[in-house]
Amino acid sequence: MSYKESYGRAATIAKEALEQMDRLQLASHPDNFEIWYAFHAGIDAELSRQLSGMLESVEEFDPHSYQDIKQSYLGEDTNQILKSAGESVEDIIGKAAASIGVASDNAKDYGTKLQGFSGDLSSAAPEQIQALVKKALMDAKEAITKNAALEQELNEASDSITELQTSRDDARRASETDGLTNLPNRRAFDLGLEAEIARAREDRTALTLLITDVDHFKRFNDTYGHRVGDEVLKLVGRVMKSMLKGRDIPARYGGEEFCIILPTTDLKGGVVVAEQIRKTIAAKVLKSAKTGQSYGNVTLSIGAALLQPTDTMETIVERADAALYLAKHSGRNRVATEKDLQRQRASKVESMAS
Ligand code: GH3
Ligand code: MG
Ligand code: MG
Repeated sequence: MSYKESYGRAATIAKEALEQMDRLQLASHPDNFEIWYAFHAGIDAELSRQLSGMLESVEEFDPHSYQDIKQSYLGEDTNQILKSAGESVEDIIGKAAASIGVASDNAKDYGTKLQGFSGDLSSAAPEQIQALVKKALMDAKEAITKNAALEQELNEASDSITELQTSRDDARRASETDGLTNLPNRRAFDLGLEAEIARAREDRTALTLLITDVDHFKRFNDTYGHRVGDEVLKLVGRVMKSMLKGRDIPARYGGEEFCIILPTTDLKGGVVVAEQIRKTIAAKVLKSAKTGQSYGNVTLSIGAALLQPTDTMETIVERADAALYLAKHSGRNRVATEKDLQRQRASKVESMAS
């Protein structure tokens, strides 16, 4: 827009325009100033007619009519500003709507509304914006309410999942634990041995397996009763647990037999652990906590085998079992290894040959 007024005249017109804006309580915005400057300068006949009509015909200044007049006078520029503002809002909201849409159907619904809103906004007449914003706020409120319900549902679902996980973990633990001694059971032993053999091979480390059997346990049970026998098995379990460390896995293999998996342990180290357990059990004088009755003591026989490159789970267990058999037949209350077994077989062959 170009102005032809002199500096002095322009100052007077500007003063009148500002006073008019003040009377009408209009914001000190350049658009308003431009309208009222044009009006008081008589720049545009049509504008003057419309504004005069508006000022005369209504008792109170009508903001809606004023916006119409203003828009038609300022024309394209304002529309362009609104349009580009609308486009960037549309862009931002479009992106947000896309993200929200992924979250849930409720949010998707709201995203659609937002997109609609931004579309409406870009084409809306200025006086419609207030109504659009009001509607968008109501949509937002509705979405918040729906989201709160969704959040509660999600929280409940997550609680249920946690409960399920806990009971699944409890069930798994129970299925892998021996009820009497609380040690891992046969199933857990099988799983543990399989995993530890694989790891020993991967890490190229030694692994020793011990198999332990209570000596003359039938006689002990027959003498003192099964209940006392149970207490002895619990004691053996406690002693084993207390003497192991790290990844060592003690397990009740069945009846009065226990196994111990010793990862990263060679046969010599395995014998040291086995001897510690054997000696500790043998040194205990068992007696009734209630009556003080003495039950004497129990002893353990232990067989040890070292993992070989060709071993399967079955073959290492068989060799440890064979070593245990040797310990039993060599007098019980002792530790025997597969090396002792080889030595024994070799000496048998020797004596047969001589
Ligand atoms: P050996 O020295 O040759 O091992 O003799 P043993 O008597 O220990 O061997 P045997 O296999 O003849 O007897 C095992 C006994 O272990 C039989 C059974 O009464 C007892 N036993 C097995 N499981 C349990 C249990 O859960 N509780 C109790 N109290 N005794 C058990
Ligand atoms: Mg036995
Ligand atoms: Mg036995």
